[in-house]
Formats: sequence, C-alpha cells, structure tokens
Amino acid sequence: MFEIKHYPELSWSLSRHKTMLECPRKYAYDYYISHNGWLRDALSLAKHTYRLKKITNLEMLFGSIVHDKMYQAIQSYLHNGEIPIEETLIDDIRHHLNQGFVDSTKKENLWFHRPKHYTMMHEIYYSQDNQLPKEKVAKINERLHSVVHHFLNSRTFQELQNQNQMEFIEAEQFRYMMVGDIKIFVVMDLVYRNLHNHKWVIIDWKTGKKSEEDRNQLALYALYLKQKFNIPSLDDIVIRNEYLLEGTCQEYTLESQDLANVQNLFNMSIQEMLNYLDDTTQNQPKPLEAFPMQPEEWKCSRCNYYELCFG
Ligand code: SF4
Repeated sequence: MFEIKHYPELSWSLSRHKTMLECPRKYAYDYYISHNGWLRDALSLAKHTYRLKKITNLEMLFGSIVHDKMYQAIQSYLHNGEIPIEETLIDDIRHHLNQGFVDSTKKENLWFHRPKHYTMMHEIYYSQDNQLPKEKVAKINERLHSVVHHFLNSRTFQELQNQNQMEFIEAEQFRYMMVGDIKIFVVMDLVYRNLHNHKWVIIDWKTGKKSEEDRNQLALYALYLKQKFNIPSLDDIVIRNEYLLEGTCQEYTLESQDLANVQNLFNMSIQEMLNYLDDTTQNQPKPLEAFPMQPEEWKCSRCNYYELCFG
C-alpha cells in the first residue's frame, strides 16, 4: 500500500543542487513545502506550493515535448524500422504545444485541482491577458524546425540505422544510484553499446544552448554507468552531447579528474543540504525562514513561486 510520509526522502540530483544555489527559498518550496501537496487532505500551503511547482514555461514545455517525441521516434524505429517524416514530427510537437496553451488558457480550473495532469504556463498564469509573448512564440517556432531537422540528421539517429552493431540499454534501467544512504537521480536520454569497438555510448539531447554544466552532467552519467555495469575503464565510455539547435555534436572521453570533480561537488552539495535540516534522519527541514530568498528581485519575476514570496 502507498505509504504517506511526513517528510520526503532526501535525494540528490544536479538540478536540485542548482536550485539550492539559485535560491534556497525556491529549493525549500520545490523539495519540502510542496511535499504531499498532491493529497486531497493536504495542508493548503502544500497544495498551493505543489500546484505552483507544476507550472512550466514555453521553453521548458518545448524541451520536454521534444524529448518525449524523440524518445518515441527512437523506440518506434527500433521496433518497426519506421523513420518519422520531418513534417509529421513537427506537426505532432506543435499539436502538443497548442494543447499546453489550451490547457493554460481554458482549463485553469481542471489544472487547479489536478495540476499533474494539465499544463499551466508561467507566461499565462502570471499574465493578465491569456496571450503568449509574440517574440517567444516566433523563437520557439524557429527552434521547432531546427531541432527536428537536426535530430533526424544527427549522428546518433544516423548510427541507430546501423543497429546490427549496437546493443541498446533499456532507459528504464537508468533511474538512480545510491551513495551511502542518498539516492542520486540520473536521467539519461539514450545509452547503447557499440558492439564493433565495445564502447558504451551515452547520448544527451540538448534543445537549448551549450552550458558549462554539460560536462558535469555527463561525468555523473559516466560515474553511474561505470558503477552499474562494472566497466573497468573510463576509456570504454564515450559521452556525446547532441546540440539540436545548432546541429552539432560533441563527444568527450572523461578523465578520472572529472569523476573526482563531480564526487566533490556531490559531497559539498549534500553537506549544504544537510545544513538546512533540523533532523537529518527524517529529512525534516528547518522552518521556511531559514531558507533565504535570493536577493536579486528582478529574477523573481520568472519564478513559479512569485505569488508566495510577494503576493
Ligand atoms: S520568488 Fe524569488 S525569492 Fe521567491 S522563491 Fe522565487 S526566486 Fe526565490
């Protein structure tokens, strides 16, 4: 039976770490105050916070739909050899974006009661006029064409069509690893073994711009893969970022220093997370006031929790 826990389980991910650095108050809302907010008889603050947590924005919605559709396209290719038609894939993604807009503008009431099942966009929730900014829509439209075209012509998708040399690892296997008592979440887009050169290849699709964080993220993936499959050497792991906006890809082989860096990052980060707890055995957080608000107020206008901090 589903057990209701008073406090959430302590876990770690790169995005959790980034949220804590960006704004400790947001971190508290995301990882503690919203806990159990999906339950019918939850406290109203937990419900409210959980609802706000579920708000997305146009760029994030776009990224998540594109990732889903690419995943489906790959699965479908692997199962029945069908290569999607570029225009069909574009139309499908556009349809889901439109659905997100309809949910946000016409189904607010449904979203209010079941925020996990409907979409609410930040641009709509915090606007007065149910309109998306025109320049953002134009930018996403342009991205949509580039991303789909580059996906279908990417090195990875081309290689997939040479499957007799590849062994795919079920994405379901990639969820988390344990370091001591802490669960570290790892979400990898695609992993396969190249049977020709016996390398493990990790693919990460990027629908946004390049970032300095990319290497850390890939190092975390490599660390996980190495542990999970007892891979003797880092030289056997190739990690590849596919930058779909630009249509480029970049491969890395990591050095042991990269793994040491990500392990140090984890150690420092988890220590800071523990400092926000009153009871580390239960993961009971300190009171909300112990989580400072980030000082640059202009950044808050893009935050889901604006109305909680300034409402
Ligand atoms: S509104 Fe600002 S201070 Fe409040 S949680 Fe968001 S980023 Fe932090």
